Amino acid sequence: MTIEPTRMLTGPGVLRVVWLPGSDQLQGTCHCGAVHIAEGPVEVWDWLLAHPVGHEPPPAATHVQPVLVGAGV
Ligand SMILES: [Zn+2]
Repeated sequence: MTIEPTRMLTGPGVLRVVWLPGSDQLQGTCHCGAVHIAEGPVEVWDWLLAHPVGHEPPPAATHVQPVLVGAGV
């Protein structure tokens, strides 16, 4: 089963959280590509917001607006 969202923001500073169907778990994806699976929203957001310690989105991209893209639209 694929868990890819049908619509999502893209960009260098985007943090993504998706629910894993059939479970009580959430998968958080950092802008650097690191992935963490958590039992709840507090845990996943704590990890996402703490994970970027030591790394930031590319400075050149700080003024780039995230773009909402849709699949099959
Ligand atoms: Zn990261």
